[in-house]
Amino acid sequence: MIESAYLHIPFCQSICTYCAFERSANLKQIDQWLDVICDEVQNTLKQAKQNDPTFKLKTIYFGGGTPSVLSCAQLERLASLFADVFDPYGEWTIEANPESITLEWLQTARRLMINRISIGIQTFDAKRLQTLNRHHTPLQAKQAVALCRQAGFESISVDLIYGFAKQTMADLNADLDAFLELDIDHLSIYSLILEPDSALGKRGYVPLDEYENALMYEQIDKRLTQSGFEHYEVSSFARNQKYGLHNSLIWDDGQYFGFGFGAIGRDEQGLYHHSGTLKQYIQKQSHLEYEENPNPWFDAIMTGLRTTMGLNVLKWNLRYGFDFKQRYAHVLNQYSECFIEQNDRISLTKQGMEILDTILVEFLMED
Ligand code: SF4
Repeated sequence: MIESAYLHIPFCQSICTYCAFERSANLKQIDQWLDVICDEVQNTLKQAKQNDPTFKLKTIYFGGGTPSVLSCAQLERLASLFADVFDPYGEWTIEANPESITLEWLQTARRLMINRISIGIQTFDAKRLQTLNRHHTPLQAKQAVALCRQAGFESISVDLIYGFAKQTMADLNADLDAFLELDIDHLSIYSLILEPDSALGKRGYVPLDEYENALMYEQIDKRLTQSGFEHYEVSSFARNQKYGLHNSLIWDDGQYFGFGFGAIGRDEQGLYHHSGTLKQYIQKQSHLEYEENPNPWFDAIMTGLRTTMGLNVLKWNLRYGFDFKQRYAHVLNQYSECFIEQNDRISLTKQGMEILDTILVEFLMED
């Protein structure tokens, strides 16, 4: 039974120079897009309720794009479709950019039962925000957090980026200091990786190299863990057990509905998405298509081992019809000091996490 949903809002006020996501800056299309996605959500949820009258969603995630470009009325139209299927004890996250949120918008989201917000701050350095073509100031970022609190959000997450060209350790520490001052319990932090067709990629911008990135990653881990955070996934830190439940379910090989163009969903048959372009989606000319994946069991290993929770071996054996320990005995023996076995799960030690990519390649080679 599917208990999670990801909904993609593919619109942004402006396009960031590093962006490789499905998005459009043509906000005039939003109402037309809403007509289509509302139909899609309604039909799918209706079917789910017919199949199981007790159907509830434990997690919902509105990502993008920039969900905060939706007006209050547009957000209400979309979110109210989930009102009777959202488990009130569940987690409902929405992403937002600092420059486009208002107190009224946040209060609307809270009234609609959205109870977690992820703010795309990226950096507290004004110059680097410009490099990314982000349209908020460091002050606006801090004010956005205060507004979220004022609106009643208790679960707040921040996104940061590191690994900018010429970024020094002092620069990184300044970003981490600014984050820690906000007293927030969740951080997602990513190194700047440029797709060749992103604006920065085309400009020949060169982020920090692998070695310097690794040093920064170590520093982030050190600073955050010293401040009481748990490094519970490669790019995610949480304090006071404020783990991102939606992503944790996905990393635990979970299934989820994927709504809208640019979303990925997953069911018994595998990963699916909408075909074609956003324009075709809006014109109702796209359809769901499944992604070819010859070894989905490896994806489960990859996402599971990225987390401290690890891979549920029993569930994996049942789903994929193999014996994990037998199939991968070679890797498990070769890196025995890197694995922790507890109950039905296998996870990596800190030392194992540091060579995660190497270990994953070993798993792949056994397939
Ligand atoms: S806000 Fe996100 S999706 Fe939109 S352009 Fe920037 S990086 Fe891309």
